[in-house]
Amino acid sequence: MIQERITDRLAIEGGDKAVTKQFPWPIYDEREVEAVADIIRNGKWGNPDCLGEVEAFEQAFAAYCGTRYAVSCVNGSVSLRLALIACGVRPGDEVIVPPYTFIATASTVIEANCVPVFADIEPDTYNLDPEAVERAITPRTRAIIPVHFAGQACRMDAILDLARRYNLRVIEDAAHGHGAEYRGRKLGAIGDAGSFSFQSSKNLTGGEGGMVVTNDPDLYRLMHSLRNVGRLEGGQWYDHFNPGCNYRLTPMQAVLLSEQLKRLDEQTHRRNENGLYLNELLAGIEGITPLTRGHGETVHCYHLYIFRYDASAFGGLSKTRFVELLAAEGVPCFRGYPHPLYRQPLFQNRNWMCYAIPEMVDYTEVYCPVAEKACRDEAVWILQHAMLGTRTDMEAFAEAIRKIQRAVRR
Ligand SMILES: *Cc1c(COP(=O)(O)O)cnc(C)c1O
Repeated sequence: MIQERITDRLAIEGGDKAVTKQFPWPIYDEREVEAVADIIRNGKWGNPDCLGEVEAFEQAFAAYCGTRYAVSCVNGSVSLRLALIACGVRPGDEVIVPPYTFIATASTVIEANCVPVFADIEPDTYNLDPEAVERAITPRTRAIIPVHFAGQACRMDAILDLARRYNLRVIEDAAHGHGAEYRGRKLGAIGDAGSFSFQSSKNLTGGEGGMVVTNDPDLYRLMHSLRNVGRLEGGQWYDHFNPGCNYRLTPMQAVLLSEQLKRLDEQTHRRNENGLYLNELLAGIEGITPLTRGHGETVHCYHLYIFRYDASAFGGLSKTRFVELLAAEGVPCFRGYPHPLYRQPLFQNRNWMCYAIPEMVDYTEVYCPVAEKACRDEAVWILQHAMLGTRTDMEAFAEAIRKIQRAVRR
């Protein structure tokens, strides 16, 4: 009994960690180093001398996603902005977004002089609920931005059906979704346009970077131009046709990303397998409910592995404290967003820069119960690089949770 208590002492109280392994990210070797060094040595560090490397990455990424086109840019916020503007949104148009996502999904809507309208998420997937989307549609709605949250596909059949019936554009925010699939199609390749981020935490990274993929030649031409200061593809350097900006990726980022892309399939497969295994392992723990799979996602890339935490099975321990204990045990985890997006000061204390949002829109009245509960009580994230571990690591994550449960029950 005494022996068991010693080995069971929580790491936060000075006991041994349940997980001692480190999970490195990013993952690279000499191939990445050489690719970047080659650019440094050849001295062609920027446009217009070096289009080849950037175009090669765009072509490789489009081929990977199965789309006709890909337009790279500086990050996954600008990629959303390019897609929105190219889709033809006008000042005051409404764009439906989920409240459980990174701020960029909604703030780029404001940057495009449109009005973000929040529709709640589903309790079992944390993805946009198509029924809530339909209730949020008005005559001013122009677009929907489904976020494939954590790398799990949204219910795209239902969302595309709404888009057809109400004549809306669909921009997939696939910042979490590199390599994941919905009914055999890559995320990002399903709606009018799909937006990706290559920021350092994402499943495919070049430090920073972004991409929009599409099959629509008109969207492609316009996004290409907006990304390149309004120039036309193949046009003259000092001829400008659209109110764009310099949002270009650099060749150093492009070659780094091209090397990283070669690793993506194997990594995605590993995260998906580990996620399925962890689902099995956690199913047996009272008070822990992994998000549900089975709404059409054929490959989940687990940018985040999310489970729902029920404090009542852990002696009332708050989610925040539980996550502290779990992190101390060596599981790379996080409590997630503290609030649904509409609670951010950007929306609650709207300032003069949000002039495109009509006075009558009052975000203090927005309340999405599922997102509220996810933020406050339920959602626990295990980070993607930890999902690149082994099956034994997944067993250790489950054991860390059981260890905390035993401790709070003693
Ligand atoms: C990271 C992220 C973005 C924005 O990407 P950046 O490259 O950081 O600008 C957009 N949407 C979601 C859901 C994200 O997680």
